[in-house]
Amino acid sequence: MGHWSVQGVRFLKGVGPKVTEKLKKLGLESQRDLLFHLPLRYEDRTRVTPIGGLQPGRKQLIEAEVLQVAINFRRQGPSKRMLVAKLEDPSGLLTIRLFFFSSAQQQQLQKGNKLRLFGDVRIAQGEFEMIHPEFEILDPQNSPPLEQNLTPVYPTTDGLHQLSITKIIRQVIVQLDQNDMPETLPKTWLLQNNFPDFKSAMLSLHSPQQQIDTELIANRRHPAQYRFIVEELTAHRLALLEKRISVQKMNNPSIKTNGTLHEKFIKNLPFELTMAQQRVMAELMQDFGRSQPMMRLLQGDVGSGKTVVAALACLPVIESGFQAAMMAPTEILVEQHYQNLKAWFTPLGLKVVCLMGADKGKKRNQKLSLIASRETHMVVGTHALFQESVVFNNLGFIVIDEQHRFGVDQRLALQKKTTNQQMPHQLIMTATPIPRTLAMSIYADLDYSQIDELPPGRKPVTTSIIPETKRDSLIHRVAASCLEGGQVYWVCTLIDESEVMQCEAAETTFLSLQAQLPELPVALVHGRMKSAEKEAIINTFKNGETKILVATTVIEVGVDVPNASIMIIENPERLGLSQIHQLRGRVGRGGRESFCILLVKQGLSVQVLNRLEIIRRYQDGFIIAEKDLELRGAGEVLGTRQTGEASFKIADLLQDQRWFDTVDELAQLMLDTDNTKASEMLLENWVGYKQGYTEVG
Ligand code: ADP
Ligand code: MG
Repeated sequence: MGHWSVQGVRFLKGVGPKVTEKLKKLGLESQRDLLFHLPLRYEDRTRVTPIGGLQPGRKQLIEAEVLQVAINFRRQGPSKRMLVAKLEDPSGLLTIRLFFFSSAQQQQLQKGNKLRLFGDVRIAQGEFEMIHPEFEILDPQNSPPLEQNLTPVYPTTDGLHQLSITKIIRQVIVQLDQNDMPETLPKTWLLQNNFPDFKSAMLSLHSPQQQIDTELIANRRHPAQYRFIVEELTAHRLALLEKRISVQKMNNPSIKTNGTLHEKFIKNLPFELTMAQQRVMAELMQDFGRSQPMMRLLQGDVGSGKTVVAALACLPVIESGFQAAMMAPTEILVEQHYQNLKAWFTPLGLKVVCLMGADKGKKRNQKLSLIASRETHMVVGTHALFQESVVFNNLGFIVIDEQHRFGVDQRLALQKKTTNQQMPHQLIMTATPIPRTLAMSIYADLDYSQIDELPPGRKPVTTSIIPETKRDSLIHRVAASCLEGGQVYWVCTLIDESEVMQCEAAETTFLSLQAQLPELPVALVHGRMKSAEKEAIINTFKNGETKILVATTVIEVGVDVPNASIMIIENPERLGLSQIHQLRGRVGRGGRESFCILLVKQGLSVQVLNRLEIIRRYQDGFIIAEKDLELRGAGEVLGTRQTGEASFKIADLLQDQRWFDTVDELAQLMLDTDNTKASEMLLENWVGYKQGYTEVG
């Protein structure tokens, strides 16, 4: 049997098969996992507060005597009976209410009994009140001692009581206290930075001593928290850097070009590249000139022209005898890339193949054999490209569009699609603008480029917030614009509800618009349609047959119809700011003056309206993203919640940016001293090998 910390949870008291299942649900399988399952917050049961000194809105401990008790009967509400008791201590009165109670509890609440209670204090009708407090009878002669330490509150799951998980974790804490664990960080470095050692830091977080610790921990300023924040960020950084190092050891597809295709392509292009596009092109060409595979993140606001840059980057790769692949998260986006690439590449004599999940049977087999053949130069597709049955012919370059939609695992799966120790070059594109320092931290394994300029002639999109009551006049305005040759997106959002409901909402809007505007062609596209159907409808919008396109958020990324100049977004408050910004980026691409109208219901809170005001006021995706980050937190904005790419136990990418330099330093130190064992432990503790960070290559 190895070190205690790697033993399974089943060796602990109170952990049978059922509890093991529950713990597993929380991702807790070893005793070490439990140790790193840190409290969410703490409760203070270390002192008794006199009723007169209670502060509403906080959980507090009191001791008081029951003055009177009654059971009220009611017609409505969660239950018919309610137990109400009035309690008193020398400093004041307090009411407690129980909607559900056992006869044992009723017994404890008899008049004259002394109780110790713990609960949320609020004020109702001018009096202190607790609803469903925890309580126990006190024997005044022999009252049990108060808690010595703050009580940790752990994240838990349905069916696993807070008290149970606390008891289980407490056993692991005792183990740590008696048997210790190896220190993961360099001791001198800890001393220099005034950080506590592993054991004492863990102990202070799981069972903080009162007073000093309480305040510090509550404000996230405890040295133990600092230590683990830095440690966790460093672990993630090391994982990424290791990945980077392993990539750098790989051979790359050697790219040699005389620029012929590039020249032809540029000659056919109806516009000139912006300075920013040219600069990024140069950066990509430099990457191709190196002996390691390209691993580059390309950021650029919506409409900044990332696609054409990616297409251009494919040319030298193809010229050198390799295939290139471009992957996008939605079928609509893939279809659009396919159309663009076909239009650009066919005149150059290059063959483009498109593969989607919807391709089945014979059609799919045909495409697969095309992809495996030398005839095909460029492959476009959805995540269908990840599937094992897809065999490329000498894949040399992968472009991943809108990367925030894909997880690390998917990225890795595609990398494995190569033979002979070669790693294809990779370009990862995203329109989710992340502040630079943050981007460098999350994508430490990638180089970073940015298109920070929009093509000329883009008009700012005038954005307004309009109440639902003005819907009719809005519809008139929409009709007028269409009659002048314009086109309109009408976006229905219902993000929290099911997709079905979102589609129904769009359907309702579609029908009513059709009824109100019989002379105008209106069409509907939503996520539950077959991809061929979606494609056909979007094509009618592209070629101008359809004037008004009612859509769910399926059009969020990438769709490009320059003639569309008005976008209406219903219930915009249900979306993140960056998401609204992405949607809005669909208009303002052509010659017309463009508008984005946020159609809001009556009665939204001031906070919500202030949030929308940011969209109204700013056009710059980076500013919007920063404000959005402040309001919603990093995980939400970066979409990492779904992909699990950066789920932290204690660190917070937004709040903890001030530690980034320290993290740089420490990660470098650990790499330099080449203490493999310590690094490994750090990764095991914080990142977990499960995620597959280290199996790259
Ligand atoms: P995104 O960066 O959001 O993916 P796209 O690549 O879809 O942007 O480009 C948006 C639109 O701008 C497309 O219609 C594209 O043809 C056009 N475009 C790209 N670069 C330029 C340029 N330098 N000048 C004019 N239009 C451009
Ligand atoms: Mg794009």
